[in-house]
Amino acid sequence: MDLIPHVIDGQEVESVSGARFTTVDPWTQAPYAEVALGGAQDADRAVTAARAAFDTGPWPRLGFAKRGALLHRLADLIEQHGDELAMADTRDMGKPITDARTKDVPRTAQNFRFFADHARLSAGETLPMDTGHHAYTLFPPAGVVAAIAPWNFPLMLESWKVAPALAWGNTVILKPAEDTPASAALLGRLALEAGLPPGVLNVLHGYGPGSAGSALTEHPGVDRITFTGESGTGRAIARAASANLVPVSLELGGKGANLVFDDADLDNAVDWSIKAIFTNAGQVCLAGSRLFVQRGIYAEFVRRFTAAAAGLVVGDPKDPATQLGPLASEEHYKKVRGYFEEVQAGVGTMATGGLGDGWVVRPTVVLDAPLDSRVVCEEVFGPIVTVHPFDTEQDAVEMANSTRYGLNAMVFTESLSRAHRVPAALRAGTVWVNCFFIRDLRAPFGGVGDSGIGREGGTFSREFFTEPQAVVMQV
Ligand code: NAD
Repeated sequence: MDLIPHVIDGQEVESVSGARFTTVDPWTQAPYAEVALGGAQDADRAVTAARAAFDTGPWPRLGFAKRGALLHRLADLIEQHGDELAMADTRDMGKPITDARTKDVPRTAQNFRFFADHARLSAGETLPMDTGHHAYTLFPPAGVVAAIAPWNFPLMLESWKVAPALAWGNTVILKPAEDTPASAALLGRLALEAGLPPGVLNVLHGYGPGSAGSALTEHPGVDRITFTGESGTGRAIARAASANLVPVSLELGGKGANLVFDDADLDNAVDWSIKAIFTNAGQVCLAGSRLFVQRGIYAEFVRRFTAAAAGLVVGDPKDPATQLGPLASEEHYKKVRGYFEEVQAGVGTMATGGLGDGWVVRPTVVLDAPLDSRVVCEEVFGPIVTVHPFDTEQDAVEMANSTRYGLNAMVFTESLSRAHRVPAALRAGTVWVNCFFIRDLRAPFGGVGDSGIGREGGTFSREFFTEPQAVVMQV
């Protein structure tokens, strides 16, 4: 079996202890590679390398133009190795290969290109004072960044953290999720090939608690922790970070509300609503898992939406025609299966869907589930959507906001006033109107409540990955 190594200080290495774990292809359910299993000693090695690369190495001192050129070269290599990177994520977590190849990989390259350019072109502020002074701002890098990533968009979400951190001159230790080590290791290798100096981007594999993850978050040599994952893990990481007073950025879970009003363009609403919940087999923090439809179109919408859900192609994620693969792991499959037990016990009715073979869950539409049931309140992180009718705009907003999450929401309406009024009333970091998932990388991205702390994207990433400094000068 192949070995997926750590990448530390420019070298592909095993763990100090020699420990390994296996990674499983969720479609075949067979182990396909061994992975170096990092612990405290390995985290220490990685932090020491990143620290040295930051404190005395060339990276923070290169300047935006040269750093940016290297990050663009890395983006070129990502594009050139697109097939390999896409297959790594597909084998690790069952993402349909077409999505991995045509969405995740290009977006990963785009993240590196965007943040390379954004950092280079970014202006500071000059604050003319009327006291014979003037003040201005500088954005020096924060230092060593621990980037801890989830398994659902492995490579793409890793680049969302790594790219701005590097562009602003930090050095990074990336810890991919234990289920998806392969593309991260490849990214570490490509970064060296692109010419990033040793120690600038390190990749450390392992689990969370009592393993590489907690060893990193507790390490005193880390200056920033950027984390994407479950809300419960976010709490544990915030606690660990507080011991060293390290700033954290937490992008956590979601329970997206999708509001479809009577005046919506129905074809458009059905199309996006299908994508919003069934992309990546629903394993999306932004999933539109609570679908609220106004009474006047409810029956027609449900009919069309259910038919479209039933028509999605479910199967081998390596087949380019597949739209939904298996869930990412056995553990995750069992968690999602638990919600079917609730539905079978009489919580709502299933209009289409159900469990498939292996770790497959078919696109599932649940009607009439009570708003306080687990399937409606908890983040399922699978291809299950609950659909609820509503009468008034106020009802819709109240239902949408009745969650402890607040990552995103969608609104479908052709009314100009409503299209502005409703987003402003929603408690959510991002609201999409008549679409879903479209991103401008300059925009703030993050969540309210249990969906996280902080925002990343554009200048919001700059604020997090730098130590903004004020200089006040007497003229
Ligand atoms: P997870 O929290 O189980 O794991 C995420 C990462 O944290 C992994 O690398 C894991 O090894 C590590 N980890 C776990 N416990 C740790 C600890 N105590 N200390 C340090 N590291 C630890 O999340 P997951 O199951 O990989 O991902 C799914 C979750 O991520 C969902 O809740 C989803 O909504 C969320 N998510 C959020 C966003 C967002 O942008 N808000 C994006 C994608 C996924």
